[in-house]
Amino acid sequence: FNRLKDSLNKTRHSFVEKIDDLVHLRKAIDEDLYEELEEVMVQADVGVTTAMELVDRLRRTVRERRVEDAAELKPLLKELIREMLGSLPGRLNTSLDSPTVVMVVGVNGVGKTTTIGKLAYLYKSEGKKVILGAADTFRAAAIDQLEVWADRVGIDLVKHREGSDPAAVAFDSLQAAKARQADLLIIDTAGRLHTKSNLMEELKKIGRVLDRDMPGAPHEVLLVLDATTGQNAINQAKLFCEAAGVTGIALTKLDGSSKGGVIIAVRQTLGIPVKLIGIGEGIDDLKEFNPVEFVDALFS
Ligand code: GDP
Repeated sequence: FNRLKDSLNKTRHSFVEKIDDLVHLRKAIDEDLYEELEEVMVQADVGVTTAMELVDRLRRTVRERRVEDAAELKPLLKELIREMLGSLPGRLNTSLDSPTVVMVVGVNGVGKTTTIGKLAYLYKSEGKKVILGAADTFRAAAIDQLEVWADRVGIDLVKHREGSDPAAVAFDSLQAAKARQADLLIIDTAGRLHTKSNLMEELKKIGRVLDRDMPGAPHEVLLVLDATTGQNAINQAKLFCEAAGVTGIALTKLDGSSKGGVIIAVRQTLGIPVKLIGIGEGIDDLKEFNPVEFVDALFS
């Protein structure tokens, strides 16, 4: 909990502390105060629509409960944000038959490789057998980097040469995962956005090939987003959600970001659950996202 709390320092500073200052400065609850609260939320990358929605809910609750003291708005807001984020911890979808196949998508630089390495470590630590598939064949460096993580975690990696067909790598890694009785197969994919439509076609093809060989696979399409990019992450997410059937989100670099408010916008505008959060560069700095714990840490 303390690690999570520390990792949210910047967001707490840009968001919760500002709200704190505001409600203590103003004694009365009036329209000006609501407007300023909304402004703070927008600045903290909660997003315009989500900030408006939150303030609307706040206004309604204040009326219903006849709240008069501005200082009471902070705990109220905490309650409303927690409501918005849901209460269940983000667990990855699992398959009844092994392996569970997780396809990881996202733009280069967001922390995709690191997240795959950490995720593999997390599951291996729970005693699961994990295999990686290197289906980002566009860059040799991507394959090498993933191999470094596979070695670090101590698991197998299935790879082909640079430039080979990503769907063929996905197929082969699924065969290997079945043959070696792995519990979890994590497949890396390319993240070059300048050839957007090609990339989306490539992701669809990987999905088709997996599903043909194991109906229902991939069981999880995990989109990695970088919390430091704030609202930009939302735009990336919309793109991938349309094309790749995203089922869960991993939000990275929360530790380095003052824009952690984006996590509320992700949930509210995309309707896709945040399942994992990255709170550092270390191998164990990936956590299952627990909304209750998160809001407690943010508001503590
Ligand atoms: P990729 O291009 O999407 O595969 O990105 P990488 O996995 O190579 O990560 C890019 C950089 O972000 C690396 O320096 C990582 O160490 C760093 N990174 C990834 N996740 C986190 C995180 O949760 N917190 C911090 N502080 N850095 C991260």
